Amino acid sequence: MAHSAKPFDSVNAVRTWTPASREPYHLAEVFGEDSFGLSQMQDRLAEGTYKQLLATIEHGDKPTAEVADAVAAAMKDWALSRGATHFTHVFQPLTGRTAEKHDTFLKVGRDGRALTEFGGDQLIKGEPDASSFPSGGLRFTHQARGYTAWDPTSPAFILQGESATYLCIPTAFVSWTGDSLDYKTPLLRSIDALDRVTRRALALFGDDTGRVSANLGPEQEYFLIDQEFYYRRPDLINSGRTLFGAKPPKGQELDDHYFGAIQDRMMAYIQSVEADLFRLGVPMQTRHNEVAPQQFEFAPVYENANVAADHQQLMMRIMERNAARYGLVCLLHEKPYARINGSGKHLNWSFGTPSQNLMEPGKSIHENEQFLFFCTAVMRAVERHQDLLLACVASAGNDHRLGANEAPPSIISIFLGDEIQGIFEDIADSGGASAGEGSGVMDLGVSILPDLPKDSGDRNRTSPFAFTGNKFEFRALGSAVSISFPATVLNTIVAESVDELTSAVEAAMAGGSSLSAALGSVLSREVAGFRQILFNGDNYTQEWVEEAARRGLVNSPSGADALPDIVSAKNTALFVKYGVLSEEEVHSRFEVLAEQYVTRITTEGETALSMGRTMILPAAVRYLGQLAAAGGGGAGQAGVSSTAGTVGGLVDELVAALDALDAQLAHEDDGDDMNAHLQHVRHGVMPAMDAVRDAADQLEGVVPTDLWPLPSYRDMIFVR
Ligand code: ADP
Ligand code: MG
Repeated sequence: MAHSAKPFDSVNAVRTWTPASREPYHLAEVFGEDSFGLSQMQDRLAEGTYKQLLATIEHGDKPTAEVADAVAAAMKDWALSRGATHFTHVFQPLTGRTAEKHDTFLKVGRDGRALTEFGGDQLIKGEPDASSFPSGGLRFTHQARGYTAWDPTSPAFILQGESATYLCIPTAFVSWTGDSLDYKTPLLRSIDALDRVTRRALALFGDDTGRVSANLGPEQEYFLIDQEFYYRRPDLINSGRTLFGAKPPKGQELDDHYFGAIQDRMMAYIQSVEADLFRLGVPMQTRHNEVAPQQFEFAPVYENANVAADHQQLMMRIMERNAARYGLVCLLHEKPYARINGSGKHLNWSFGTPSQNLMEPGKSIHENEQFLFFCTAVMRAVERHQDLLLACVASAGNDHRLGANEAPPSIISIFLGDEIQGIFEDIADSGGASAGEGSGVMDLGVSILPDLPKDSGDRNRTSPFAFTGNKFEFRALGSAVSISFPATVLNTIVAESVDELTSAVEAAMAGGSSLSAALGSVLSREVAGFRQILFNGDNYTQEWVEEAARRGLVNSPSGADALPDIVSAKNTALFVKYGVLSEEEVHSRFEVLAEQYVTRITTEGETALSMGRTMILPAAVRYLGQLAAAGGGGAGQAGVSSTAGTVGGLVDELVAALDALDAQLAHEDDGDDMNAHLQHVRHGVMPAMDAVRDAADQLEGVVPTDLWPLPSYRDMIFVR
């Protein structure tokens, strides 16, 4: 066979990279230099203006027009001094990523002279055309108007691209009718709701120390792949994951990648991402190899929920952008490779005031009562809204992780660690006694509360919702997802439970109970009600699935099953009651997420069909031709014809599977029924794709590599 017939040379492919020279930098000096954060504002604004802005950021006061004008002027000067030519409102449409529309600072005077202009009105309000963003039925095409509104609580920043430098202003995105078309608006509303109810609760403890916010620390997993391989894989380009690929002989079973030394080229990439993010004021903290080959993780230091969510978007963006500089592509998909660990995003969540973390178990009894109260509220929220927690992380990509024997299962449970779980079990068990005045429930609990070291040795990596010292870690998020919606859900469900528990304690106290007695009776009743959600064992086992069913826990094995729960009566009422989403907005979230789920799987199906027919089948047929040509009698005849038999059989299997997939894709669903669409793609299209893959992967094992049209798993994962 002539060498030229080989589609490409995998070894030469990765030689395209040459290390770029790296400029050393002083971390403390560059940190935040591209961010218009508090220190920039303090330097550039009059003291009074700065104080007013601070009141907005710290207490949620509305900024006045004068403040907006002053901030705009300072922001413009700063941006121009850093080389920006344009500004843009950045928003989070329901695509789950960010969007922007640029305007120049330029204003041409009457005499033709160039001036620059940027006023408070331009800072506060923008008007992108909303019609090209998903709205889930909130906006009809004749109401294409959408507005962006400045979010003063998230710092503006400058993006320094290779080709452009511009000012980015974080904004909310709403329709002409005032409905939220984005993920930021409900997140901000959920933070407000959490603030309101938590301060009411804190008043019980005599402890109002300022505005309450949720804090988020998202750990981001990702894969890197050489560009050369990526661009030769239509499946990676179209859907972010490989739809074909036989298992490589050396898989991750050796576990030699996790925490291993990071290779030079990857390290150069990682450093460049960090350097850019440091400049943008994103406090990057850790970096390491992950479990699978070529899989890595980044995590920033946690920040308040709104800024953390904006920074997470920025992080994903810089990660994808910078990869090209090193001849790489950054894959954020949950499952780029079958049979190899996928990627998640652990969302570390806590809430508190600027001076105290309410998820900190602490030392004194006073603080412990408070901790037990708030921790109970979180657990109660999780138990009541298991369905919503599963729904808010549901996506076509995440279906390959959840319930697929990897990462958390499609069942929500809470891991507390033996010690804390023991305390709550005690609180629940002494429920009878707690009904009386001054029962010893709280004392009992408190007296055995250990002084937890932050890095409790107790870990359970299989738990979807784990208490890890001074925060909960929600581990069911997919790596590609925006953290805004899951954070919105967490804030809202916890707000509800804090609200209801506060009312219960207040009622008991109105009846004459002391705070401790009231807490004792309310908490023991509550913990007894939700204790079935507590589970310290291995979440990956079949026994747990059965046990969870006995306990009556929700199990939504796929996104198609989970997504419709968003619009249940319970969940709609929750969002409406706390002013987070209106009924129409709840519906729009479901519509958009379901539509994305259907579109993703349909696109994958079409890609698999086309690759199967135009790349894989022809390769197999070519090989059949070669085998036939070799079949002229002589030595090896038996081997040649048995091989031809094998290949022929697989070709028949492949063609049949492709036809079946085609039929599934052509299947017309009954009109507007979104649930039927979801079920069809999940249970019709996906299995048909699996059958195509099965035949194709077997062919990959027998067809000569010089005929095979796709980079193999071995190429993609081990050639680096
Ligand atoms: P792990 O051992 O799971 O990697 P780390 O302590 O390294 O945990 O933290 C992981 C993430 O959790 C980081 O982003 C970190 O900033 C964040 N985090 C730490 N404390 C809190 C907290 N109180 N609230 C929210 N996030 C937190
Ligand atoms: Mg973690």
